[in-house]
Amino acid sequence: MHLKRLESVGFKSFAERISVDFVPGVTAVVGPNGSGKSNITDAIRWVLGEQSMKSLRGSKMEDIIFQGSDSRSPLNIAEVTLVLDNKDQRVPLDYEEVSVTRRVYRSGESEFYINKQACRLKDIVDLFIDSGLGREAFSIISQGRVEEILSSKAEERRVIFEEAAGVLKYKQRKKKAEYK
Ligand code: ATP
Ligand code: MG
Repeated sequence: MHLKRLESVGFKSFAERISVDFVPGVTAVVGPNGSGKSNITDAIRWVLGEQSMKSLRGSKMEDIIFQGSDSRSPLNIAEVTLVLDNKDQRVPLDYEEVSVTRRVYRSGESEFYINKQACRLKDIVDLFIDSGLGREAFSIISQGRVEEILSSKAEERRVIFEEAAGVLKYKQRKKKAEYK
């Protein structure tokens, strides 16, 4: 499985509709400071279910909608679609290509789609938990976190690695079960 394409309109600095093609292997995104490189990884995490605005470098959901520039008016909608190659059926859906879409309106309303069928956020999150995508292939170490990894205490470092390895999810479930 690999990311095939990222499409977006209105997400953060991407006022225009953009479509980024990824090929198997390593992809490097280069550009000047503030040109939107990190916004690409934010978009990927957002469409896969990221809910923490802090980790998306904003304070409220509206912050991810294009807020206008000197030459363009603000938009009222942000939409991101991620297209995955699913020939190996890692995602348990009988499709060779799987797309997930997330849309948010300035009014606060959200919509989610799997292969263009409306669904809940939970369906998207569950789909990727069970596919192992979160566990093995999808791990983002954001800017600033590199330093965090190098300088933090051993216990804190462990949490970062557990998250990347997918162990954290089981620990959280265990904790939840113990409190019941
Ligand atoms: P660096 O090299 O410094 O890490 P970068 O290429 O990663 O830069 P990003 O952090 O992805 O840059 O992009 C930041 C840009 O996105 C800023 O110019 C910021 O104004 C813009 N931006 C963020 N949110 C919005 C929004 N809601 N509407 C319009 N622009 C936005
Ligand atoms: Mg950046």
